Amino acid sequence: MITSTVCVIIWFAGLVAWYVIRYPFERRAKKVGVTKSLFGWRESGLLSLAFLGLWIVPAIYALTGFPAALDRPLIPAIAVLGVVSLCGGLFLFYRSHADLGRNWSISLEIRNEHRLVTTGIYRLIRHPMYSSFFLLAVAQLMLLPNWFAGATGLIGVGLLYAFRIRQEERMMIERFGAEYGDYMAHTARLIPWLV
Ligand code: SAH
Repeated sequence: MITSTVCVIIWFAGLVAWYVIRYPFERRAKKVGVTKSLFGWRESGLLSLAFLGLWIVPAIYALTGFPAALDRPLIPAIAVLGVVSLCGGLFLFYRSHADLGRNWSISLEIRNEHRLVTTGIYRLIRHPMYSSFFLLAVAQLMLLPNWFAGATGLIGVGLLYAFRIRQEERMMIERFGAEYGDYMAHTARLIPWLV
């Protein structure tokens, strides 16, 4: 039986799974030194907005029902699609961490002995982790029967992506030069062969 409560529980179970996937990689990555970091107020602001949209607003909605005026009817078929999107997002999130390995970082950073990864999921797209964030945000929109609490993830992730992507690719070109240029020529950013 698909009810609003079930959908909210599924959403938060997805967020917990998201953290469980990330935790071991975060621990391992912390042991590797950083050569260059673009972390600053802009980065922390963007990361906070994404966190607000994916975690905090849905949590307030789950606990208080706010903003009830923007509730929408629950459509079971859409909720099921939301679960599919959530599972796809989590899978892609795991794959991108596994393939990036020690080159991963939460912010934009170049690590000591940073290696350009062009294999695994990175053979198809340059930014699978952002693709996974978008899939999670779409899952939020489909699962939470409230226009505001559903949409804030997409807004947060959209802003993070829009304000970061050029900076990230510029940083990679600075570090890897023609190797990254060549990689860019052969891959899409988010959806294989498309975008
Ligand atoms: N934008 C990528 C990675 C996000 S993690 C994605 O969406 O999957 C952010 C860090 O990953 C950046 O600091 C950058 O140094 C590193 N990175 C991004 N693409 C990389 C690649 N192809 N190989 C190695 N490191 C990469």
